[in-house]
Amino acid sequence: MIKTIPIFNRDSVAQEKPMMLENFKDELDYELLQANIFREKILSCILILFVSIILLLNIITRGHEQLDYYISVRSFHIHIVLIFIPIVFLLLTRKHRRITNENFKLLTVLHVLMNTSVLILCAFIAINNEIINQRPFTYVTAMFSIASLILLSKSYRLFAFCSSYAIYITGILFIFKNPSVVFQHVLFSLPLFILALIVSEINYSAYIRNYMNSKIIESKNQELDKIYKLTEQMLAERTKELNETIEMENIRTAFFANISHELRTPLNVIYAAQQMLDLVLKDTTHENQKEVIQYTRITKQNCYRLIRLIANLIDITKIDAGYLQVNLENIDIVSVAEDITLSAAKYIEDRNIHLVFDTNVEEKIIACDADKIERIILNLLSNAVKFTPEYGSIHVSIEEKEGCIALSVKDTGIGIPPEMKDSIFDRFVQVDKTISRNREGSGIGLSIVKSLVEMHNGKITVISEANKGSEFIIEIPDVYQQDVEEVKAYNLAAEHQYIEKIHIEFSDIYD
Ligand code: ADP
Repeated sequence: MIKTIPIFNRDSVAQEKPMMLENFKDELDYELLQANIFREKILSCILILFVSIILLLNIITRGHEQLDYYISVRSFHIHIVLIFIPIVFLLLTRKHRRITNENFKLLTVLHVLMNTSVLILCAFIAINNEIINQRPFTYVTAMFSIASLILLSKSYRLFAFCSSYAIYITGILFIFKNPSVVFQHVLFSLPLFILALIVSEINYSAYIRNYMNSKIIESKNQELDKIYKLTEQMLAERTKELNETIEMENIRTAFFANISHELRTPLNVIYAAQQMLDLVLKDTTHENQKEVIQYTRITKQNCYRLIRLIANLIDITKIDAGYLQVNLENIDIVSVAEDITLSAAKYIEDRNIHLVFDTNVEEKIIACDADKIERIILNLLSNAVKFTPEYGSIHVSIEEKEGCIALSVKDTGIGIPPEMKDSIFDRFVQVDKTISRNREGSGIGLSIVKSLVEMHNGKITVISEANKGSEFIIEIPDVYQQDVEEVKAYNLAAEHQYIEKIHIEFSDIYD
């Protein structure tokens, strides 16, 4: 979570520089060497070309007679060495295009040798020139070329420049024994020497500054990138939350529209039946008895529907609040499933639907809540009846599997479209949402069933094909409740209690 967005000001950046210099020291050393080797290669080429041209011009201008003499002089040999050094340097560095840990030391030595030897050699040429024509320009040119092109650290710069300058001054002392002439040379060359050192320092520190600035920009960019990504992530999270809230709001609106319809329909029917009853009772004769029974039945069924709806609403509220809990006891799940299924048999078969109960195990004691298992089975059975046309069939089966008990309710009904298979377990989801649908329901039964199965640490899956049928499979872990020792005898509830439960659970289905 970002509380404040950092502001980069000059002071904070200035404070960071020394710290960063320390962090990037190794990287900077590599970068410097890489830049220097590249520049020294260029300088070598220029040097070879320049000195060769000078030598060639000298050879050409001297003519045939003086040529032998020229080649035998010291100046010629020093110039040959000046070509030789860059050639050796280029040859040795030829294969090392990139600086690595392995070649770092070798290239550092070559870099130091190259510059120092060129400076010293130029100092010798300058001394030689002083003897011939009193021109020290070769040395001055070399000093300024190296100072402005090559990036020399303070210590190395002092070493290379001072050693070559010392050689030059010593040479002058030897040539001109007269102190005033020596003084004149020192007076002329010292400012140039100091200037070359200053140029080298400016060149070197400008490179370091640029390098550090680029590193600071890079690190700030990374920080900005992080902030950007974090902001994007937060935005995505907020958008997701917003979308979820909008979706929940839509579900809530749909639920209230649906639930109002669900509550109003049975109430209207009860009210109408009650009014009819009033009329019938005003004129009670023996023949009216059938009608009284009919209206009482309608009233009762719609009361059951309201009871079921309100019970389901209370349950989902309890599930949300974490109050609904399972009371696990060691019970024979086979008899629980068989009894509740068979007690609904008459009800189902009255609707011309064939019911089959099947099990591959006679008795299976596991830790479960008999009441909740009954609710699960009744709910699945009522859905199966609701969505299976006349002359279809419903198959309830129990199978003992590795580590679990699988309970299946399979029908030959209308089936569920593949895209709805996962969402039917969500709250208020119905495949046919239209108010004019011919099956009643509120879309909360399966979500409660799923919660009840999960409270048993089980899972529910559905296999279905449109217009062929659906199979709901529940897998309850085959575990035994250790802290409850005895096996609870499953009490077959009084018949009227079952009938009551079935009436309530099947109340959405009209004759
Ligand atoms: P409802 O009260 O609407 O039946 P449920 O949560 O029990 O709510 O079921 C949700 C939806 O799942 C149903 O509206 C129906 O579209 C679909 N459904 C559930 N069981 C079956 C089934 N056996 N066959 C076909 N569709 C089913």
